Amino acid sequence: MAMELDHDEGFVISWLRERDSARLEALWHMADSVRMAHVGDAVHLRGLIEISNVCVRQCAYCGLRAGNTRLARYRMGADEILACARKAVELGYGTVVLQGGEDYGLSTPWVENVIRRIKDETPLSVTLGLGERPEEDLVAWRRAGADRYFLRFETSDMDLYRRIHPSLPSRVSDRIEILRTLQHIGYETGSGIMIGIPGQTISSLARDVLLFRSLDLDMIGVGPFLPHPETPLGKDVLPRVDISCEQVPNTEVMVYIVLALARIMCPDANIPSTTALAVLNPGAGYELGLMRGANVIMPNITPFRYRSKYEIYPGKACACESGVGDVEIPRRIEALGRTVGKGPGRRIRHVQGTQPGRVFALGINGVEP
Ligand code: SAH
Repeated sequence: MAMELDHDEGFVISWLRERDSARLEALWHMADSVRMAHVGDAVHLRGLIEISNVCVRQCAYCGLRAGNTRLARYRMGADEILACARKAVELGYGTVVLQGGEDYGLSTPWVENVIRRIKDETPLSVTLGLGERPEEDLVAWRRAGADRYFLRFETSDMDLYRRIHPSLPSRVSDRIEILRTLQHIGYETGSGIMIGIPGQTISSLARDVLLFRSLDLDMIGVGPFLPHPETPLGKDVLPRVDISCEQVPNTEVMVYIVLALARIMCPDANIPSTTALAVLNPGAGYELGLMRGANVIMPNITPFRYRSKYEIYPGKACACESGVGDVEIPRRIEALGRTVGKGPGRRIRHVQGTQPGRVFALGINGVEP
């Protein structure tokens, strides 16, 4: 037990345990200063298009899981996706994110063609979030022009991961390995976690945050775990392992703490203020995320008729519709004294020539919670 924690791990763990609001103010301030110094005031907008809710996976947390027979399934057509991309251009966004279930009905060449069309017909950057596709697919899509890929590792606790994210019969799910492949192929690579998964402990959450840094991620997305009633975790039917005082709560403040730590540990990453945060706090979740480390918002531009069907967790479609409308977003960003980012909003590395995993040593040394 009496293993000595390294300095950074001790720093992260003590903040994850902090509940005193005055002390937390110091963390918000630190994250906001690091954000300002490294990525500036620009808030980049990425138009999210949820292109399919079909999924082969049986993730215990996600409403899109194959076993959820109550969900009507859809797959958008190529022209519909292109129409959304044009809307993103009109709205001044620099990027579209094509997200979906792990749907092999989205064939490799079909997705390739959609990417090529977006790249040929618009100035947009393209981010993909289509699950654990084989390396050939990832290579083909990168060649077709996709710029970024997003795949959350969800938790670095491998026992917990295996309980909530079963492998397909054909291959063992190893998202960390896929993230390395994505980097090798040349994608800007994003990952992230859910906060407050039943069975997730503070020490495993600290390791997640340190893993963000050692993976040298370009994008980091974090959000609360929100139970979906049509899933094993929502029905509470998975065997719980050690639910002790170390259980991470899926609360709003916990998400801000992780978001702030992600910014401090990975100062030049692109970090969204996520929809799941806006579900917990419809009035101010986006803003508080932006004030505590985030520099990206991903407005949902999926056609309305599909939105309620992309229900990875309850309340999502509702938050997208009533949360931030298209016109409201720039106004809300400017009300915070921030600016709407122009262009693709790539990650800009401020520390040149460093090795992955050690891009950052500033800003936390000597600052103890
Ligand atoms: N099929 C893609 C996209 C999935 S949805 C993939 O697996 O990468 C994107 C993210 O939504 C997931 O990575 C997960 O972190 C999050 N998510 C899924 N179910 C959730 C839930 N019940 N509560 C909170 N976040 C959830």
